[in-house]
Amino acid sequence: MTRETRTTIDVSDIVAIEFECSKCHSKTIRHLDNWHKTPIGCGNCDEQWMLPHSNDFKNLELFVSMICGITGKAMPFRLRLEIKADGTEKSKA
Ligand SMILES: [Zn+2]
Repeated sequence: MTRETRTTIDVSDIVAIEFECSKCHSKTIRHLDNWHKTPIGCGNCDEQWMLPHSNDFKNLELFVSMICGITGKAMPFRLRLEIKADGTEKSKA
């Protein structure tokens, strides 16, 4: 017998995005229904995370826009993201 355990989250379950500074590990959270400004740096140690108008910045804003666009509509399918279940971090900066 083979058993597979998968952990998924429904895109509609995403309510906020958390940013954790790689330098000082301070965290800031932006709720999708109250997103005013994409952070470009750490509010604690002033580390710059990305430049405004950079590809990283544009991709992040597009990512948020896509999540908001998907969760606000009734779709004929459910979209789930599979996440790692072993609790280990993929990479450390
Ligand atoms: Zn920081």
